[in-house]
Amino acid sequence: MTVPQLSVVVPMFDEEAVLPLFTRRLRPVLDALDLGYEVIAVDDGSRDGTPVLLQKARREWPQLRVVRLRRNSGHQAALSAGLVRTRGEWIATLDADLQDPPELLATMLDRGREEELDVVYAVRDDRSTDSVFKRLTAGLYYRLMRRLVGAHVPAHAGDFRLMSRATVDVINGLPEHHRVLRLVVPALGFPSAEVSFRREERAAGRTKYPLSRMLRLTVDSLTGFSTAPLRLATWFGLGGAAVTAVLLGFAVTAFVTASTVPGWTSTFVAVSAVGTVQLLCLGMLGEYVGRMYTHLQGMPSYVVAYDSDAPA
Ligand code: UDP
Ligand code: MG
Repeated sequence: MTVPQLSVVVPMFDEEAVLPLFTRRLRPVLDALDLGYEVIAVDDGSRDGTPVLLQKARREWPQLRVVRLRRNSGHQAALSAGLVRTRGEWIATLDADLQDPPELLATMLDRGREEELDVVYAVRDDRSTDSVFKRLTAGLYYRLMRRLVGAHVPAHAGDFRLMSRATVDVINGLPEHHRVLRLVVPALGFPSAEVSFRREERAAGRTKYPLSRMLRLTVDSLTGFSTAPLRLATWFGLGGAAVTAVLLGFAVTAFVTASTVPGWTSTFVAVSAVGTVQLLCLGMLGEYVGRMYTHLQGMPSYVVAYDSDAPA
């Protein structure tokens, strides 16, 4: 089999509403590029008609390869499952909901080739179609990440990007589970550029990223890329010690001057404040310990149930 020049990885979870629109828009774009390509659709354990629609699409579109995960393993795991199966010289990842315009792939490829880059990020410079809540949380997320992880993280670059074979080979070799690709890729330090685009509205269906998933991504991003939260625990401890010293001085003075009063309020406040800080620090430690634990167990972050193009 000839090596395709471009591999496109698309994770999808319950995307039956948008899938026909998506294939109808992606295919002409890829056909027009005039190169050998493959599309790897990773069905992330969808419970709706997505697998049926994918099988139907595959019959008419030989370049489409369908990979199905046993259960819903999350956007990042689905991307990882797709990436290890790519064969192309260039690898693009994009969402299935047409928020990432496939037409941009041509520009990204040109940039990558002409400037001999390894990574081309598609950056959303206009999120006016996103909800206020999404814009706010996304703004916070990228600010936090750039602060804690480093300014090399491009702001508002989601998982729409083009990567060279060399980049993807490195990613595939990483042992880490729960990796957050939008932070892993910039951290590798390959030469890169950004192409901006206007984020369109979801073409159909509902978002698969409720608040709980956004929080999970944030915690994974933090614990995967920064030990700053652990250091925060130390600062809390030091701050607590300073406050305790002041309180001790206060208590001794009160004792000496014999002006002790029933101190219910201060005791209550002190005990609950210390308790909260301790729980917070324990929680932070727990996140890291949990991460190490799952890593030690070696549980895969996804299991493939079906691959239309699996080597026999
Ligand atoms: N997705 C996935 N598994 C999940 C959640 C989402 O594969 O558990 C896919 C989804 O089908 C879409 C992409 O990840 O192609 C981005 O999700 P979505 O558009 O819902 O996120 P949003 O754009 O709202 O942040
Ligand atoms: Mg979307």
